[in-house]
Amino acid sequence: MSINKEKYQQLIAELNGKATLVAVSKTKPVEDIQALYDLGQRDFGENYVQELVDKQEQLPKDIRWHFIGHLQSNKVKYIAPFVHLIHGVDSEKLLTEIKKQAVKNNSTIHCLLQMYIATEETKFGFNDEELKTLLDKISIDPLQTVMIDGLMGMASFSDDKNKVRAEFTHLKKIFIETRDRSIIHVRSNILSIGMSGDYKIALEEGSNMVRIGSLLFGERNYNA
Ligand SMILES: *Cc1c(COP(=O)(O)O)cnc(C)c1O
Repeated sequence: MSINKEKYQQLIAELNGKATLVAVSKTKPVEDIQALYDLGQRDFGENYVQELVDKQEQLPKDIRWHFIGHLQSNKVKYIAPFVHLIHGVDSEKLLTEIKKQAVKNNSTIHCLLQMYIATEETKFGFNDEELKTLLDKISIDPLQTVMIDGLMGMASFSDDKNKVRAEFTHLKKIFIETRDRSIIHVRSNILSIGMSGDYKIALEEGSNMVRIGSLLFGERNYNA
């Protein structure tokens, strides 16, 4: 077994109920997820649709599955029946498809809008202007079967703590502005920021949901 039990207990104490821990289990075997589950963990995050579907079938049904990767519209249908929260909603097209699948499943699907806050070119997400345009649209045409629970972001992959902090501070500001608009089906309660390398800064900047993988499960080996 390769989970870090001590680190898990330390993290739970550190979060102290102020932030939800999403244990990011991508590329890790079901045995490791089960081991963390046995310690009481219920929120798990995955990045790949097929991997998530396979794991969901094998693991306890009270796990809350978070989809945190880049989601293609044509794959929403596979996770719609059980997903707890989709963190990476980064286009209106995807939102429209989620709405459709929620109707099919006769349910409400909870989402976070992914905001582009890093300086790297490769990250997905809305910029501030695009978010504003989207919210304007939603305020006229409510989402009905989709609930926007908040925002998600990834800071630049950088050793410069001030840069990372500034990106999180900016997102917190947008988060509050979004909440204050009081749009139906847009709640903005959840601010999903912070990973293994930057979660402490994220917590200081107002995160209430951290997504942590390697600290709990060890480094990922994509060639395995
Ligand atoms: C992989 C991943 C994480 C976890 O990263 P760690 O550095 O291993 O904690 C968090 N969020 C997203 C979106 C990820 O893809």
